Amino acid sequence: MIGRDYSLVASSFSIPGDRNCTVTHMAQFDFIPGVRAPTSNDTPANWLMFLNDKPVIVGGDVKNPIPYFDKPSRMGFTIQNRFYLGLFRGEACYAASLDPLADFPMEFTVSDMKLMLAQLPGEWFQLLGLAQQILSWDRHHRYCGACGAPTHFHPADRAKVCPDCGLTNYPRLSPCIITLVTHEDKVLLGRSPKFIPGLYSTLAGYIEPGETVEQAVHREVKEEVGVELGKLEYVKSQPWPFPHSLMLGFIAEYHQGDICIDDDEIEDAQWWHIDELPLIPPQGTISRALIDCHIERLKARA
Ligand SMILES: [Zn+2]
Repeated sequence: MIGRDYSLVASSFSIPGDRNCTVTHMAQFDFIPGVRAPTSNDTPANWLMFLNDKPVIVGGDVKNPIPYFDKPSRMGFTIQNRFYLGLFRGEACYAASLDPLADFPMEFTVSDMKLMLAQLPGEWFQLLGLAQQILSWDRHHRYCGACGAPTHFHPADRAKVCPDCGLTNYPRLSPCIITLVTHEDKVLLGRSPKFIPGLYSTLAGYIEPGETVEQAVHREVKEEVGVELGKLEYVKSQPWPFPHSLMLGFIAEYHQGDICIDDDEIEDAQWWHIDELPLIPPQGTISRALIDCHIERLKARA
């Protein structure tokens, strides 16, 4: 078997103190992370495979494009590296990088992570993102950053250890804030020159060393669009494997100031009435969830 049906388990949750706002999210992430693979390797597993950093999926019209089989070699894959990730809904999951010079089975196809974000249910996208981040971490930590010796895998943890100086490296996570700035029935959205034409989104940026999450929200918004914020509210988070971010999502109230954009980061920002929004990010993104949450709240109060 190389692909299966899945059922999307979605639910909604209320934000504490505001029963009118619901955000669709995955109910429970039924995943138990692990480092040591099960002893039997004859059992079918989910294979989250990458060829030259791009996800390899089952081709054709299948509902779940994540490959599911027992042995990669039997399917015709030549694997360079593999990592056991853990159990998803009780089934083993592996991340694997494929040999770019080897033959490639015809029933599979090479896709793109951004496409997968739109096509896969959130839980599967989370697994694919985890796999990509583990493979990337492995590739970028082959040698010790302090003394240059080849690193070893830690026997029990997801870590790489230097045998000479003992330096330990864990998979990298880069926390980011993402914020919807609101002013009653208007929202402030900006666009990066990298966006597709017409698309506007919430404001986002990395948290600096030594900074609190809340300080990062105030600073990023001030830097990018020049306005000052009042009350902040944390809403939800989303792992964002481009390449190793964790997005922490806020809804913020506008306090004062006129829009003055930072040309280095964004090319435009405007206030938009919620009934006349431009093209915004698709369902499945945290940016969209923040926008939808604010609109739901306003409509519930009307
Ligand atoms: Zn070292």
